[in-house]
Amino acid sequence: MYMELTPDLSGEHEQIKETVHAFAKEVLRPAARTLDSIPAEQVADHPGFRNALRQAYEMNLHTILVPEGFGGMGLDPLGTHIVLEELAWGSAGFAISIAVSQFPAFGACLLATDNEELIAEFTTPFVENRDGSLIGCWAITEPDHGSDWLTFGGMEGDPGEGIVPNLRAKKVDGGWVLNGQKAAWISNGPVAHHAYLFLNLDPLKGMRGSGIALVDLGSPGVSRGKAWEKLGQRALPQGELYFDDVFVPDENLIANPELYPFAIDATLSIANTAMSALFTGVAQAAFDEAFRHAKERVQGGRALIEHSTVQVSLFEMFKTVEAARALSRRVMVYNYQTITPSLKHAVAAKVFCTDAAVKVAHMAIQVFGGMGVSKESDIEMIFRDARMAQIEDGVNEALAINAGHSLQFMEGE
Ligand SMILES: Cc1cc2nc3c(=O)[nH]c(=O)nc-3n(C[C@H](O)[C@H](O)[C@H](O)COP(=O)(O)OP(=O)(O)OC[C@H]3O[C@@H](n4cnc5c(N)ncnc54)[C@H](O)[C@@H]3O)c2cc1C
Repeated sequence: MYMELTPDLSGEHEQIKETVHAFAKEVLRPAARTLDSIPAEQVADHPGFRNALRQAYEMNLHTILVPEGFGGMGLDPLGTHIVLEELAWGSAGFAISIAVSQFPAFGACLLATDNEELIAEFTTPFVENRDGSLIGCWAITEPDHGSDWLTFGGMEGDPGEGIVPNLRAKKVDGGWVLNGQKAAWISNGPVAHHAYLFLNLDPLKGMRGSGIALVDLGSPGVSRGKAWEKLGQRALPQGELYFDDVFVPDENLIANPELYPFAIDATLSIANTAMSALFTGVAQAAFDEAFRHAKERVQGGRALIEHSTVQVSLFEMFKTVEAARALSRRVMVYNYQTITPSLKHAVAAKVFCTDAAVKVAHMAIQVFGGMGVSKESDIEMIFRDARMAQIEDGVNEALAINAGHSLQFMEGE
């Protein structure tokens, strides 16, 4: 466990850090190792996946993003950071699964605060669930539209108007009928019951005609594709969602095109801030692995850690992890207690921390030598898990296009 530099850490913070770290070490990491080596199709029903998720729900970890007034755990932003970081220390895949599961429950609180029926359908049963049997997902990416969702407002000439999402909603009496599909990358797609679903309401407006709906994935017309084989985060089930004449009532549309700019900014701010905390945890995990190995392994008659090249490598890794934690904590403390979170800071933290996780895991493999590329070690899984994050929740370059564009509107000296 790392040395704590935040002076005002409370007893509650210390306790949750210790508890979640132990859970990550004893439950999530071993389960992730098991799921890492089985076919993707088998993950969703594997007892290793279901048991770990059930234990996370029993500990109430599935409610950390939900506001306390709606039944969430009630952690402050620093506590939330600590929990996300520790979960991902154990397993990036499980941590993502637990975090995205909250999106429909959290989305109802964010965009339909006063709608008691939606809260009763999407938030209350979820926060009260204790056996991991109610799972959510966030579905934005489509086969033809990945970075389009992020970059359309961030390029000259606003080409968003000519780009129309695959998933279309057509107005009918009392609601909307959905047709189209979401990509194989939807985290929890194969197991989710509810979706925080991005869709197009007005094709003539392109991406600017988008909205968000809360959708029960048990509705007639919803089907799923097969889970994809992938490089890392293999404990996280991911797969396509298909919508074939799926009826969604009017009240489930929680963001129309007028509200959409606020809704996507708020969603990306929350998600990218969470990603920065998660991948600080992955960077720490990689450092911890390298540090432990460097103390145990003897070469040239001395422990690796006594060799200056290894010391310099470990220092570079240590410095990178500390910088990631300093930035992500700072951004989370700001973004998770304001109604207008800063997207550019969230993106800066997501890009920095995911790059940091890849860099530290990459360097850790070098400290391990041959053992670093062996399936016998955790570090090669951690490296593969980290690499996914430079694409996950927005390719880092696409996020940079969007955030970079917004810098021109920032006040200067
Ligand atoms: C582990 C993981 C988890 C994920 N979880 C979810 C999830 O829960 N829900 C969900 O909806 N999605 C999820 N995704 C999808 C993810 O958000 C997309 O993969 C991502 O947005 C990139 O889209 P794409 O794969 O279509 O790549 P593309 O958009 O095709 O990008 C390919 C390359 O082209 C570049 N590029 C694209 N557009 C531009 C442009 N305008 N200008 C310059 N360069 C450009 C990009 O930078 C990138 O290098 C997940 C992905 C991963 C890997």
